[in-house]
Amino acid sequence: MKKRPGPSLDDLESGVIAGDRALLARAITLIESNRTDHQERAQELLRRLLPRTGGSHRIGVTGVPGVGKSSFIEAMGTRLVEQGRRLAVLAIDPSSARTGGSVMGDKTRMGRLSMDLRAFVRPSPSGGSLGGVARKTRETLLLCEAAGYDAVLVETVGVGQSEAMVADMVDAVLLLLLPGAGDELQGIKRGLLELIDVVAVNKADGDRITAARQARVEYASALRLVRSRGGEAPPVLVCSSHKGTGLDAVWGALRDHRSHLEVDGGLAKLRRQQDLRWMWALLEEGLMDRFRRHPETAAALPGLESAVVEGETTPSQAALQLLQLFLSGNSPRGVSE
Ligand code: GDP
Repeated sequence: MKKRPGPSLDDLESGVIAGDRALLARAITLIESNRTDHQERAQELLRRLLPRTGGSHRIGVTGVPGVGKSSFIEAMGTRLVEQGRRLAVLAIDPSSARTGGSVMGDKTRMGRLSMDLRAFVRPSPSGGSLGGVARKTRETLLLCEAAGYDAVLVETVGVGQSEAMVADMVDAVLLLLLPGAGDELQGIKRGLLELIDVVAVNKADGDRITAARQARVEYASALRLVRSRGGEAPPVLVCSSHKGTGLDAVWGALRDHRSHLEVDGGLAKLRRQQDLRWMWALLEEGLMDRFRRHPETAAALPGLESAVVEGETTPSQAALQLLQLFLSGNSPRGVSE
């Protein structure tokens, strides 16, 4: 049987703009595809939709597995949609990038929110490099903005690199912590702490209320020296995703942070800087990809690698030789021949 042709670019464009969930999902599938022709169509779609992007509050949510990220997003998300907001939830799962498996768990996460037509929940793209997963998530975020979602939450696991990637695509990062895990903050590298804009101690319920309040005081003093993108030390709050307590205050802190950022064009500046860094990241990724696939450098690479390992040549000589091979094969003359 002949396969039905997919929607045209015009259909995808008007469907996304109209907020059609099925066409939005198709557009995201196009973005996530690694096929060259799909990539070209995806880039054309993004180019067309670009003027309609930029309007949402972009928020990253991070924390160790088990801290309650999906419970928090489910509880907070349900509240937001009940208040009339349209919410999209995306995820970057570093383990799915590497192995196709998942530390974030299966699709049963955020079950209620996934069923709610006012919310749009998309699991992490899987496979490929973490950089590739970040690109796909970032472009998906733009599609969601074009579709009119006024808040986009990007969830990731608090394990380093993926957090930095999320921080570079959002306006604010919310870190969830557990009560009574005093040395947890020390486990987070200082560089990462500087990416955090709001902190919430989750699971402040039952017999953990006191521990959560104590943890809040400890975390707040530990964070006093760290400046968030809003310019001040990140506020530390307590909440319970199960009981729903403290959630409004966490949302309020995120709104305040955003208002701070909007003063003097700070938000526009932040996004311009993020776009520039993104361009450079894509350039580096693209160059490395070309480099590895370049026939002459690919042929010379194993020999030069072992020569470096055996001490027969210096790393700088080997690198120079590879660069020369790469560039000679990519000179304008080489391309036109
Ligand atoms: P994630 O791995 O960070 O997404 O964490 P989950 O949302 O899957 O939650 C991990 C566990 O903590 C689950 O058993 C949740 O039911 C529980 N949990 C999440 N939030 C709360 C909360 O506010 N209070 C309590 N008591 N348990 C919670």
